[in-house]
Amino acid sequence: MSDRFMTQMQMARNNIVSEEMRICALGEGVPVEVIMEKLANGQAVIPKNRLHNISKPKVIGSNFSVKVNANIGTSFGYSSLKEELEKLNVALSAGADSVMVLSTWGNLSEMRRIIVENSPVPVGSVPIYDSAVKAYEEGKNVIDFSEKDFIDMVYAHAKDGIDFMTIHVGITKDVLKKLKDSKRILKIVSRGGAIIAGWMIKNNRENPFYEHFDEILDIAAEFDITLSLGDGMRPGAVVDATDPQQLEELFVMSQLVDRAREKGVQVMLEGPGHVPLNEIETNVKLMKKIGKGAPIFLLGPLPTDRGVGHDHIVSAVGAAFAAYHGCDFICYVTPAEHVALPDVEDVKYGVIASKIAAVIADVARGNKKALELEHQMALARARFDWNKMFELAIHSEDAKKKLKSRPYESEGCSMCGPFCAIKVTKDFSEGKITVMM
Ligand code: SF4
Repeated sequence: MSDRFMTQMQMARNNIVSEEMRICALGEGVPVEVIMEKLANGQAVIPKNRLHNISKPKVIGSNFSVKVNANIGTSFGYSSLKEELEKLNVALSAGADSVMVLSTWGNLSEMRRIIVENSPVPVGSVPIYDSAVKAYEEGKNVIDFSEKDFIDMVYAHAKDGIDFMTIHVGITKDVLKKLKDSKRILKIVSRGGAIIAGWMIKNNRENPFYEHFDEILDIAAEFDITLSLGDGMRPGAVVDATDPQQLEELFVMSQLVDRAREKGVQVMLEGPGHVPLNEIETNVKLMKKIGKGAPIFLLGPLPTDRGVGHDHIVSAVGAAFAAYHGCDFICYVTPAEHVALPDVEDVKYGVIASKIAAVIADVARGNKKALELEHQMALARARFDWNKMFELAIHSEDAKKKLKSRPYESEGCSMCGPFCAIKVTKDFSEGKITVMM
């Protein structure tokens, strides 16, 4: 097989260094061999469809810096390509490492292609949304489509250059059977999961993604799409966390990870959803162990359900904790989560919150680059070097505005004025303050 037709995983297994591996190694500050080893054994992925020209590829997985994804896309009644492009640009300038186009209204394939064309970072999608939208537009129920539609939609997204796809493959008939009598309050909160479950119940059939997983793998291998095994059974409330349904789906995913790796397809797991802080470590460790070290694409975790309107903060707390314990890829949550379709400002604050969580985890995990940046920041603060501080900040726009809004004419800032602890200590160490004897 020519390396033109190999996935990043297959190239790594055959000791072929791709351009993306080289760029990622430079970005992470590690030898390319480290990237190759993790790609070859499935502990890391580089999502990149061979049809998508990406100038900023990302390696996602164990021991590499934690990455952040921003979801953009339209919804019923709110559909503007112009706004989606604005969201893309805001997400990128706030530091998103990837975007997912989750549009469910308007010309979906046109929007997807334009976002792919304009994105220098990997682009993800959830193909089943398109099948549901198509059925809805034809005046049918959102679950009225054929088994073939599922596969055709995956292929259509692949041809549009999508780099990673969520496939809700873990909800099998067995998993679903037990859900009805479970104690869960919110049975299914995943959009894709609910559509699949509805389809299975209506047609009394097995999950088509599960039944046709080999065909999906063939498409993924052809285009080198990274599959993200969607957790349709993720808990949607902290009181539902870590229950049998969530774990059963995880066991199904575990077998699918093996099947993907056998075909050289890059794969990651999604999860865990709404989980109290004291259960996050266990969830992460279970996902890593049962998922055989596959990278984890974090949904949440949201450690409380009562932060509505500020769920980007709730999620950042959970994500920092989860990433410290080994998660790799944070799917952002915006202030609009659970209440509205995010607007451009929500996208900005969602990415910033998740970047903060990622950096906190990188520092705690001992990432050399992250520690060096903290070191430089400490020096800049000690020198009152505001320009350097802003350059090193995760996102400095708001801080610059604050500094300007209440200026202070000497060293320090208007927070403490003449009682600036750093200034007093600096003066003292430079001999500007003498000790009275
Ligand atoms: S004035 Fe206070 S807040 Fe501002 S730099 Fe000095 S110590 Fe920090």
